[in-house]
Amino acid sequence: MSRTKPILPASTNPRDFVIATLGSHSALQILKGAQDEGMRSLVICKKGSEKPYESFGVADEILSVDDWTEWDEKIEEELIRRNAIIIPHGSFIAYIGHDRVKEMQVMYYGTKEILQWESDRRMERQWLEKAGLKLPRVFERPEDIEKPVIVKFHGAGGGFGYFIAKTPEQFYEVKNRKYPKENDYAIQEYIVGVPLYAHYFYSPLTKELELMSFDKRYESNADSIGRIKAEDQLAANIHTSYTIVGNIPLVVRESLLPQFFEMGERVVQVSKDLCGKGLFGPFCLECIVTRKLEIFVFEISARIVAGTNPFIEGSPYTALKYKEPMSTGRRIARDIKQAITQGKLEQVLG
Ligand code: AMP
Ligand code: AMP
Repeated sequence: MSRTKPILPASTNPRDFVIATLGSHSALQILKGAQDEGMRSLVICKKGSEKPYESFGVADEILSVDDWTEWDEKIEEELIRRNAIIIPHGSFIAYIGHDRVKEMQVMYYGTKEILQWESDRRMERQWLEKAGLKLPRVFERPEDIEKPVIVKFHGAGGGFGYFIAKTPEQFYEVKNRKYPKENDYAIQEYIVGVPLYAHYFYSPLTKELELMSFDKRYESNADSIGRIKAEDQLAANIHTSYTIVGNIPLVVRESLLPQFFEMGERVVQVSKDLCGKGLFGPFCLECIVTRKLEIFVFEISARIVAGTNPFIEGSPYTALKYKEPMSTGRRIARDIKQAITQGKLEQVLG
């Protein structure tokens, strides 16, 4: 049964609100960002994972739950009572799930409808194609495979279980041996190049698209497999996996920047036709750049990505734009603070 949405607090004092998120992913950055903007911060932790939030002193308050399945009306009521504004991140979506997020009554920063466009591969593709981005080709049927492809299972946690195939035979050999029961997968052209994650922020208040930072991922074992000879890899029967372990900061060749700005702007523009308020807040275009400097986008994340974590003190790009250290977490808090003081809170909530 859906409940009635609570009335938004009328206060224009940011101290009457608290910025809240789940303890993982980019929570440290989000909570510190709230504090840097003079707002209060709250983290919800799974019991036993409180330590970093205590030790780094970024949370004014810590709520603990035994398990994420415990996310229920009682917790929500606690959060609503505190005027909490939830900031979603990758782990938040992974643990709470889209359906529960949609039903949530607590204030939520960002557009909820956009999660559907991001999580459904077909809808995501429609969006990015409309924005004129270059995407890896998709093979509808395994029989169509005629060049190296990457096979992705739906919901594969952080790239685990992906595999590469070059022919339909290779595809079926691996699929039937390792994942006989899985039928929800996507087959994408494998793009040879370097992975690059572009982090953006779009404020519905300033209507400006900001390029915040870039990262590349540190993935096990993709990032270490080159340390042994190809023949040893074959002998040991090692397969590539993409389990995310950490993130490495990057700056890009400056002449690529105009294109990155344009890509981000078009994605935001098109999103306004897709759903209500469109995409706003932080988002990320996950790219592969080829040796011919073509930029392919293989995915969009419509929220803060953990690749922004190396930039708690700001990135080279935010250093150009801001007079103080500006992380993506802090930029979110600033957007919320400005919305509250201008009486426009509704504009940044989904
Ligand atoms: P965790 O809370 O670390 O168990 O992660 C939950 C989800 O968030 C996983 O599906 C990860 O793919 C994603 N995630 C967590 N940390 C990162 C990261 N540093 N970079 C990219 N994705 C991440
Ligand atoms: P994802 O879980 O979608 O973020 O992808 C995990 C990793 O797979 C990324 O870090 C990329 O290096 C790689 N990857 C994903 N899609 C492609 C593609 N179409 N071509 C080449 N590499 C890819």
